[in-house]
This record gives sequence, C-alpha cells and structure tokens, in this order.
Amino acid sequence: MASLFMTSVTVLPGIGSRKAEQLEKLGVTTVGELLRLYPRTYEDWSKPVMLACAEEGSVCCVRARIVSCSKPAFIRKNMTLYRFTATDGEDYVTLSFFNTLFVYEQLKKGGEFLFYGQIKKSDRGYEMSSPKLLSSISPHIRPVYQQTNTLKSSHIERAMEHAVGMLPEKVNDTIPPAIREKYGLCDMKYAIKNIHFPENAEALEIARKRLVFEELMILEIGVCLKGSERLTKKPVHIGKDYTGEYLSLLPYKLTGAQNKVISECINDMLNAPHPMNRLIQGDVGSGKTAVAAAVCYSAAKNSLQCAFMVPTEILAEQHFENLKMIFEGTDIRLALLTGSTKPSAKETIYRQLNNGEIDIVIGTHALISEGVSFKRLGLVVTDEQHRFGVGQRAALTSKGEAPHVIVMSATPIPRTLALMLFGDLELSVIDELPPGRQKVNTYCVDSTLRERIYGFMKKHIDEGRQCYIICPLVEQNETEMNSALDYAESLKDTVLGGCRICVLHGRMSASEKERVMELFAGGRADILVSTTVVEVGVNVPNAVIMLIENAERFGLSQLHQLRGRVGRGTAQSYCILVTDNTSPLTRERLEIMCRTNNGFVIADEDLRLRGPGDFFGSRQHGLPEFRLVRTSDMVNIEAAREAARSILSADPMLSEKENAPLLFEVRRLFPLAAN
Ligand code: ADP
Ligand code: MG
Repeated sequence: MASLFMTSVTVLPGIGSRKAEQLEKLGVTTVGELLRLYPRTYEDWSKPVMLACAEEGSVCCVRARIVSCSKPAFIRKNMTLYRFTATDGEDYVTLSFFNTLFVYEQLKKGGEFLFYGQIKKSDRGYEMSSPKLLSSISPHIRPVYQQTNTLKSSHIERAMEHAVGMLPEKVNDTIPPAIREKYGLCDMKYAIKNIHFPENAEALEIARKRLVFEELMILEIGVCLKGSERLTKKPVHIGKDYTGEYLSLLPYKLTGAQNKVISECINDMLNAPHPMNRLIQGDVGSGKTAVAAAVCYSAAKNSLQCAFMVPTEILAEQHFENLKMIFEGTDIRLALLTGSTKPSAKETIYRQLNNGEIDIVIGTHALISEGVSFKRLGLVVTDEQHRFGVGQRAALTSKGEAPHVIVMSATPIPRTLALMLFGDLELSVIDELPPGRQKVNTYCVDSTLRERIYGFMKKHIDEGRQCYIICPLVEQNETEMNSALDYAESLKDTVLGGCRICVLHGRMSASEKERVMELFAGGRADILVSTTVVEVGVNVPNAVIMLIENAERFGLSQLHQLRGRVGRGTAQSYCILVTDNTSPLTRERLEIMCRTNNGFVIADEDLRLRGPGDFFGSRQHGLPEFRLVRTSDMVNIEAAREAARSILSADPMLSEKENAPLLFEVRRLFPLAAN
C-alpha cells in the first residue's frame, strides 16, 4: 500500500484541484491518506422499514415507489418546493424537497428508491422532509465522512470507491500474521474495504476491531521508540525534603490527596533511577498549584532551578502572585516572564536565570524562547498540559540537562490511555477537594428565563458578590470581540444596567486582559462578560454565579472547566446554562452538568456521547489522531500494548522485512520516532 501514499488524490475521478484543496484540509493529499480517512459514522441503508413500523421522529430508511408528483410551488423568491407522494406498498408518504431541481427530474412516477431521513406522522399521514435518496435499491451501510464547506461526504464516498479499487491484489499488512492470528484480527485489505463499504454490520465490526488494534499498537510502538530516551538519562537527585517547612508557609492545611501527591513527587526526586516524569491529574479546584509549589520549593531549596509554564498570561500572573504570597519571607527568588514583560526586564531575567540568581520562574511559552537559558534547571512544571504540544514541553525540558518533569491536567484521561499518550510516565491523582467546597448548583434554562436570571444575579451583586457571563460563541461573520462587547452593551437596558461591568475577549492585548482581570479579581467590577478566554485556571473566590450563553455549543469538559471558575470560595455558587436548543442529545448532555460536579464522570459521559473525536481528535497532545478509538475500546489497549512490546522485543528497530509495512506506518504517524 506504500505506493498509494505517493499517489496524489487527483488521479481519482471527480477530484480536481478544487476538491483536492478541500481534502488537504482534512489532512489528505494522497490516495493512501484518503484510504486512512475513516468514516465519521455510518447511515444504515441496509434495513428499509415499512412506514407503519417507523417510530415517529426517528431517522430511518424507507423503500418506496413514486406514485405522484405535484407541480413545483414557488414559496418565495429563491425558494421552490417539490412534493411527491410515494408508497411502500401499504402506506403513503409525502416527500418534500426544496430547491432541488435535479431531484425533481430524477424522481419519476413508478420509480423505486431508497429514502433516508426523519419520519414525521401527522393527520395528513407520513412525511419526510428533504430525505436523502438513492436510486440503487440494494440496501447497504453507507459511510459518512467529515465534510468541509464545499466538500460533501458523498464526494468523498465516490472518490473512496475508486481508491478502494486501487488497492493491490495483496496488501502488505502492517500487523504481522502471527499477531493477527493471536488476537483474531482480519487482514488489512479486508479491514480497509469494510471500514468504508461494509458488507454488513458484522463485517464493519471486524474491520473496526482490527483498525483500532492497529492504531493503539502503532501508538504504543511510537511512544516506546520516542520515550526510551529518558530511561538512559541520569537524574539530578535532591538531598533533602523541605515539604514540612513549606507546609508552615501555607494559610491552610493541605488535603490528604495533596500531601500524597507531593510525597510521590518528592520521592521521585530523592531516589528514582530516572528523572521524574509525572502527570498530576486533579479536578478543577483540587489545588494543583499548591502541590506544584511544594515540589518547586523543595527543588529550589536544593538549589535546582524550576520553570513553571502555563498557557495564558493571566494565569501566569495569578500563579506568580500566588507563589509570591506563599514564599514571602523566604529566600526563594521568583520571576515572572511572559510575552509582555518589558524588554529591559526580560534581559535582566535572562541574565539572572543564566547565572542562577532566580530559583523559580513562572511564565507562558515565553519561557521557551531562545534567549532563555538556565544555570541548573532541575524541575519543569507545565500547567493545563492539554494547551501545550509535546514539542513545546520538550523545548522547555531541553533547556536543562535531564530535569524532572511534572505535567498537570484537569482533563481526566483513563490511566492506560495516559500511559500511552505520555509514554512511560507516572500518574498521580488528586482525588479530593479542599474542605468546605460546596457543589456548584447547576441549572439548564431557556432564554425566556434570562430576565429572571439577571434579577437573581442582581440580588447577589447587591450582597457584594460577583458574576461571570460567558457570552455566545461567535457566528460566522461576527468577531469574538463584537460578541463580547455587544453583549455587555445589551446589559445596559436590563436590571444589571447599574452594575460595574467589565469585558474580556481574545482580541485584547495581554496587558489589557491583565488589567481587566485585576479589576475583577480586586472586586472593582461586579460582572465579567467574557469569551472563553477566561476558561483556564483563573481564580476569583468571590465570584459565585456563572451564566453561560449558548451552552449547547460547548463540550462538556469545557463547560466543566468554565464552571470551575465559581465555587472556589465557601459561598454557595451557581452555574446557569442557557440554551434554546431542544434536541434530546443537547438536553442529555446538559443534564449531566446539572447532575454531577465530578470532572471524571463528565469526561466519561462526554466521550460516550460525542465519541472520541474532540477528546483525542485534537492534535494538541502532539501525537497522531485516534481516528477510531472509543472508550469502549479501552479493554483493547492492554492487548495492543502487549503486541507492540512483543514486536519490539524481537525487532527493536523494526528492521526485519516482515515489519517494513509497520515501520512505514509508524514513521508516517510519528515523524520524529524511528528515524
Ligand atoms: P486547580 O487544581 O484547579 O489548579 P488551584 O490550585 O487554582 O486549583 O486552587 C484553587 C483554590 O483552592 C485556590 O484558591 C487555592 O488557594 C485553594 N486551595 C488549594 N489547596 C487548598 C487546601 N488544601 N485548603 C484550602 N484551600 C486550598
Ligand atoms: Mg490550575
């Protein structure tokens, strides 16, 4: 199949330069890549139902013969309605199409077709509005691909038919025969053919099983080839644990979970045979910063320098202030380095980092800029790791000899998966919230209640509390800035008109954002109207209400992060999700938010409802996309790891001929590994 990765998609009938451009947006330029573009989902056209058996409102496939067509009706300018009546032999269904002359020309009286769409029942009988149709009446399962603005799934489907036809008689398999046999996996050609055009549901499952296994196995191999480097390195050990001293600096008592995680980290730095590589997972508000600060303290006291990298300037500023307060009166020397640090101050910090006069530097990705060098970088902490790519983390780490590494995340990832994504790292979980935290009461409402909610907010503001409003995500031809500014403006005519309102959006410069955040954090504004820039990490304990507009447009994990901005003090807090979307899926998703405050439960539900696309699909983790893996596949992970390891132990560099197709695929997906 390797040669198909050298063949441009433009050889396929129907794919000209325009469509090729669109395909490129999906990461596809060659026939080989196209074959690896698996369907997003499927439409089951394989079991047409009788109209009488179709459930009201459900999406199904119906086989019907056209019995009459009414004259095109011109509803208004640019809008023509075409109506047909068809029968499945027993009942009649009205089919309506808008502006589709070609359908009108195709659906001739007496012709039999498959229709796929939502069935409605009314007193006028059965109806389908703009169903999809096929003139081939042989039932089958149809692939649905990710689309772009101008490239439809059906275009890809047609190109794919040709691409599948180009597969050679015998495809060199990426999974060696012995492994296939051991785990009961089908061969590659069967898998590729049936993932796109399944013969039936069973064949699809067989194909999927094999391809999921392959993805996981290749990921594991890639991670192993990449990660083994660390284990050859000697760590800089610390001589003494200073945690006891650190605890006396804190205004509160750490939770058991925080203490446990700190000692796990300290032990690594005291004794582990390799530099620490640890992922700390803890739900929003679980107090990860205090844990990181503890580890930094012991490192710094042992004269190792620490770099603490966070994704936004606001967060860097907050962490800096926070640590400054904790370390007040100690000999720890702190610095803040971000994109908006003044050039002269930057020079000073560069110099002091280089000659070891700074112990802990907190900053954004400005920390990885070229001018930054350390005298003795011993610990690298990355907060909100999902915001950084593997490359960015590596760039920071490479500024030290073999520094200890901590990555912190509020996004829960199942353990086995984390191990694969981050290689051979250790995992610590902060599974306890600080005492006194109350559940954020969450409600889902429609926009007719908005006025009442504003009243509710006003009442709390009068009591000295603060509120967040996350304004709607932008429409296509609107900017993020306008959305926020317009929203804030519109509040003037409501009960909130008299409140002090400030606005935060992504178009502001870092210093403007900082100014606004300071204003709000300092209690000099009652309401912060913001786009999602506020999402990450920000801490204003006096804010007790968060109103989220267009809640249906956010992922559950993102809503959870946003909600995590309130409920940070001891007062009862509220999160109000506004949506006018009534689809059952939206309802179900938002209900989950109302039901639980547990980020791990939410992440799991998110995976279940949305599939892994958004979870794994993001390339931010810097590893190849999982195209097929679902949570239910987690059981396969162990088997895939086992297979990967057995292959690598027999052929560590994948140099055997039999492993050539596998090596090809690993190299394709992991450009850095195995070169
Ligand atoms: P996250 O895990 O989301 O990054 P933070 O580190 O921002 O959470 O902590 C959230 C808030 O909880 C901060 O105001 C912090 O000072 C406070 N906090 C952290 N640990 C404790 C604790 N053990 N007891 C009380 N408050 C704590
Ligand atoms: Mg945090």
